[in-house]
Amino acid sequence: MRLPDGVKTIADRLSAARLNTQEDQVRRHVLRGFASGTTPTTVTLAKQCGLSPSRAREILLRLMAMDLLSLDSTEETVLVAYPFSSVPTPHRVRFTSREVFALCAVDALGMPAMLGETAGISSRCAHCGSKVEAQAQPDTLSQYHPAEIVVWFPESEDDCCPVAQSRCPNISFFCIHEHLQAWRQANGHPHGVVLSLVEAFEVGREIFGSLLSEPASPTG
Ligand SMILES: [Zn+2]
Repeated sequence: MRLPDGVKTIADRLSAARLNTQEDQVRRHVLRGFASGTTPTTVTLAKQCGLSPSRAREILLRLMAMDLLSLDSTEETVLVAYPFSSVPTPHRVRFTSREVFALCAVDALGMPAMLGETAGISSRCAHCGSKVEAQAQPDTLSQYHPAEIVVWFPESEDDCCPVAQSRCPNISFFCIHEHLQAWRQANGHPHGVVLSLVEAFEVGREIFGSLLSEPASPTG
Protein backbone atom coordinates (compact mmCIF):
# COMPACT_ATOMS: atom_id res chain seq x y z
CA MET A 1 0.00 0.00 0.00
CA ARG A 2 1.24 3.49 -0.79
CA LEU A 3 0.12 5.19 2.43
CA PRO A 4 2.38 7.28 4.67
CA ASP A 5 4.24 5.39 7.42
CA GLY A 6 2.39 5.07 10.69
CA VAL A 7 -1.12 5.40 9.26
CA LYS A 8 -3.54 3.07 11.03
CA THR A 9 -6.50 2.26 8.81
CA ILE A 10 -9.91 1.00 9.87
CA ALA A 11 -8.76 -2.48 8.81
CA ASP A 12 -5.78 -2.16 11.19
CA ARG A 13 -7.99 -0.93 14.04
CA LEU A 14 -10.49 -3.71 13.43
CA SER A 15 -7.88 -6.43 13.53
CA ALA A 16 -6.31 -4.91 16.68
CA ALA A 17 -9.75 -4.76 18.35
CA ARG A 18 -10.12 -8.58 18.43
CA LEU A 19 -13.88 -8.33 18.69
CA ASN A 20 -15.87 -11.20 20.11
CA THR A 21 -18.69 -12.74 18.05
CA GLN A 22 -21.41 -10.54 19.54
CA GLU A 23 -19.42 -7.34 19.07
CA ASP A 24 -18.61 -8.27 15.50
CA GLN A 25 -22.28 -9.04 14.83
CA VAL A 26 -23.25 -5.55 15.99
CA ARG A 27 -20.46 -4.00 13.90
CA ARG A 28 -21.68 -5.85 10.78
CA HIS A 29 -25.28 -4.79 11.34
CA VAL A 30 -24.12 -1.18 11.68
CA LEU A 31 -22.31 -1.38 8.33
CA ARG A 32 -25.20 -3.17 6.63
CA GLY A 33 -27.63 -0.58 7.98
CA PHE A 34 -25.60 2.26 6.53
CA ALA A 35 -25.12 0.33 3.28
CA SER A 36 -28.89 -0.01 2.91
CA GLY A 37 -29.25 3.77 3.21
CA THR A 38 -30.49 3.92 6.81
CA THR A 39 -28.88 5.35 9.93
CA PRO A 40 -28.45 2.58 12.53
CA THR A 41 -29.77 3.26 16.03
CA THR A 42 -29.21 1.49 19.33
CA VAL A 43 -32.82 0.32 19.34
CA THR A 44 -32.82 -1.15 15.81
CA LEU A 45 -29.44 -2.80 16.36
CA ALA A 46 -30.63 -4.34 19.63
CA LYS A 47 -33.60 -5.88 17.79
CA GLN A 48 -31.53 -7.10 14.86
CA CYS A 49 -28.98 -8.73 17.16
CA GLY A 50 -31.41 -10.05 19.78
CA LEU A 51 -29.89 -7.93 22.55
CA SER A 52 -31.31 -5.60 25.16
CA PRO A 53 -30.87 -1.92 24.22
CA SER A 54 -28.51 -1.44 27.15
CA ARG A 55 -26.30 -4.35 26.03
CA ALA A 56 -26.36 -3.06 22.43
CA ARG A 57 -25.33 0.40 23.71
CA GLU A 58 -22.53 -1.10 25.78
CA ILE A 59 -21.16 -2.88 22.69
CA LEU A 60 -21.50 0.25 20.56
CA LEU A 61 -19.55 2.23 23.15
CA ARG A 62 -16.79 -0.36 23.08
CA LEU A 63 -16.69 -0.15 19.27
CA MET A 64 -16.53 3.63 19.61
CA ALA A 65 -13.61 3.37 22.05
CA MET A 66 -11.76 1.39 19.33
CA ASP A 67 -12.57 4.13 16.78
CA LEU A 68 -14.58 1.71 14.68
CA LEU A 69 -17.64 3.99 14.78
CA SER A 70 -19.05 7.06 16.57
CA LEU A 71 -22.34 7.59 18.38
CA ASP A 72 -24.17 10.86 18.87
CA SER A 73 -24.21 12.48 22.32
CA THR A 74 -27.41 10.64 23.32
CA GLU A 75 -25.75 7.27 22.49
CA GLU A 76 -28.90 6.41 20.49
CA THR A 77 -27.72 6.97 16.91
CA VAL A 78 -24.62 5.90 15.02
CA LEU A 79 -23.15 8.98 13.35
CA VAL A 80 -20.15 7.39 11.69
CA ALA A 81 -19.02 3.87 10.87
CA TYR A 82 -16.05 3.86 8.51
CA PRO A 83 -16.56 4.29 5.51
CA PHE A 84 -20.07 5.71 6.11
CA SER A 85 -21.30 8.99 7.55
CA SER A 86 -24.88 9.73 8.55
CA VAL A 87 -24.02 13.42 8.30
CA PRO A 88 -23.75 14.72 4.71
CA THR A 89 -20.18 15.00 3.35
CA PRO A 90 -18.90 16.12 -0.07
CA HIS A 91 -18.55 12.45 -1.10
CA ARG A 92 -21.76 10.86 -2.40
CA VAL A 93 -21.88 7.21 -3.42
CA ARG A 94 -24.87 6.05 -5.46
CA PHE A 95 -25.86 2.41 -5.59
CA THR A 96 -28.94 1.00 -7.27
CA SER A 97 -31.91 2.60 -5.47
CA ARG A 98 -29.97 4.41 -2.74
CA GLU A 99 -27.27 6.96 -2.04
CA VAL A 100 -24.89 7.14 0.93
CA PHE A 101 -22.24 9.56 2.19
CA ALA A 102 -18.60 8.51 2.57
CA LEU A 103 -16.29 10.00 5.19
CA CYS A 104 -13.51 10.68 2.70
CA ALA A 105 -12.37 10.12 -0.88
CA VAL A 106 -10.71 6.75 -0.17
CA ASP A 107 -13.74 5.57 1.83
CA ALA A 108 -15.99 6.38 -1.15
CA LEU A 109 -13.69 4.46 -3.49
CA GLY A 110 -13.60 1.45 -1.14
CA MET A 111 -17.37 0.99 -0.90
CA PRO A 112 -17.91 -0.94 -4.18
CA ALA A 113 -15.36 -3.59 -3.09
CA MET A 114 -16.77 -3.74 0.43
CA LEU A 115 -20.36 -4.24 -0.75
CA GLY A 116 -19.65 -6.10 -4.00
CA GLU A 117 -21.70 -3.59 -5.95
CA THR A 118 -21.25 -1.08 -8.76
CA ALA A 119 -21.40 2.53 -7.64
CA GLY A 120 -21.31 6.06 -8.99
CA ILE A 121 -19.13 8.34 -6.89
CA SER A 122 -19.46 12.08 -7.05
CA SER A 123 -17.58 14.69 -5.10
CA ARG A 124 -15.90 18.07 -5.55
CA CYS A 125 -12.35 19.31 -5.94
CA ALA A 126 -11.34 20.47 -2.46
CA HIS A 127 -9.63 23.53 -3.98
CA CYS A 128 -11.92 24.86 -6.74
CA GLY A 129 -15.17 23.03 -6.00
CA SER A 130 -15.55 21.62 -9.51
CA LYS A 131 -17.29 18.29 -9.84
CA VAL A 132 -15.34 15.02 -9.88
CA GLU A 133 -17.08 11.80 -10.80
CA ALA A 134 -16.19 8.13 -11.03
CA GLN A 135 -17.95 4.89 -11.84
CA ALA A 136 -16.59 1.90 -10.00
CA GLN A 137 -17.19 -1.81 -9.93
CA PRO A 138 -15.94 -3.88 -6.98
CA ASP A 139 -12.62 -4.56 -8.69
CA THR A 140 -12.32 -1.88 -11.39
CA LEU A 141 -12.62 1.81 -11.84
CA SER A 142 -14.60 1.87 -15.07
CA GLN A 143 -14.59 5.58 -15.88
CA TYR A 144 -13.92 8.92 -14.28
CA HIS A 145 -13.93 12.62 -15.01
CA PRO A 146 -11.83 14.75 -15.15
CA ALA A 147 -9.02 12.49 -16.34
CA GLU A 148 -6.41 14.11 -14.05
CA ILE A 149 -8.15 13.57 -10.67
CA VAL A 150 -5.73 13.05 -7.75
CA VAL A 151 -6.38 12.17 -4.11
CA TRP A 152 -4.53 13.62 -1.15
CA PHE A 153 -3.78 11.33 1.80
CA PRO A 154 -2.32 13.22 4.81
CA GLU A 155 0.25 11.80 7.19
CA SER A 156 -1.12 10.37 10.39
CA GLU A 157 -2.38 12.95 12.88
CA ASP A 158 -1.98 12.86 16.65
CA ASP A 159 -4.31 10.47 18.42
CA CYS A 160 -6.28 13.47 19.65
CA CYS A 161 -9.63 12.39 18.36
CA PRO A 162 -11.36 9.90 16.09
CA VAL A 163 -9.87 9.60 12.61
CA ALA A 164 -13.27 10.74 11.28
CA GLN A 165 -12.47 14.16 12.74
CA SER A 166 -8.69 14.33 12.43
CA ARG A 167 -7.77 12.72 9.12
CA CYS A 168 -10.89 12.00 7.04
CA PRO A 169 -11.80 15.64 6.33
CA ASN A 170 -8.47 16.06 4.52
CA ILE A 171 -8.54 12.90 2.40
CA SER A 172 -9.92 14.70 -0.61
CA PHE A 173 -10.29 14.66 -4.37
CA PHE A 174 -8.62 17.35 -6.48
CA CYS A 175 -9.54 17.92 -10.12
CA ILE A 176 -5.88 18.38 -11.14
CA HIS A 177 -2.51 18.15 -9.42
CA GLU A 178 -2.04 21.94 -9.59
CA HIS A 179 -5.14 22.44 -7.46
CA LEU A 180 -3.79 20.06 -4.83
CA GLN A 181 -0.55 22.09 -4.81
CA ALA A 182 -2.50 25.34 -4.45
CA TRP A 183 -4.53 23.85 -1.59
CA ARG A 184 -1.38 22.65 0.20
CA GLN A 185 0.17 26.10 -0.17
CA ALA A 186 -2.91 27.72 1.32
CA ASN A 187 -2.98 25.20 4.20
CA GLY A 188 0.59 25.39 5.51
CA HIS A 189 2.11 22.66 3.31
CA PRO A 190 0.86 19.61 5.24
CA HIS A 191 2.75 16.33 4.80
CA GLY A 192 1.13 13.44 3.02
CA VAL A 193 1.08 11.49 -0.24
CA VAL A 194 -0.51 12.17 -3.61
CA LEU A 195 -2.37 9.23 -5.11
CA SER A 196 -3.64 8.92 -8.65
CA LEU A 197 -7.33 8.02 -8.72
CA VAL A 198 -6.45 4.46 -9.67
CA GLU A 199 -4.01 4.21 -6.75
CA ALA A 200 -6.60 5.65 -4.36
CA PHE A 201 -9.13 3.10 -5.63
CA GLU A 202 -6.66 0.27 -4.95
CA VAL A 203 -6.00 1.62 -1.45
CA GLY A 204 -9.76 1.81 -0.83
CA ARG A 205 -10.23 -1.77 -2.01
CA GLU A 206 -7.40 -2.95 0.22
CA ILE A 207 -8.72 -1.18 3.32
CA PHE A 208 -12.45 -1.81 2.94
CA GLY A 209 -12.66 -4.92 0.76
CA SER A 210 -12.61 -7.30 3.71
CA LEU A 211 -14.63 -5.38 6.33
CA LEU A 212 -17.76 -7.44 5.68
CA SER A 213 -16.14 -10.68 4.59
CA GLU A 214 -16.67 -13.68 6.82
CA PRO A 215 -14.55 -13.69 9.98
CA ALA A 216 -11.50 -15.96 9.90
CA SER A 217 -11.59 -17.01 13.53
CA PRO A 218 -13.64 -14.80 15.83
CA THR A 219 -12.77 -14.91 19.49
CA GLY A 220 -15.17 -15.26 22.38
ZN1 LIG B 1 -10.00 21.97 -8.86
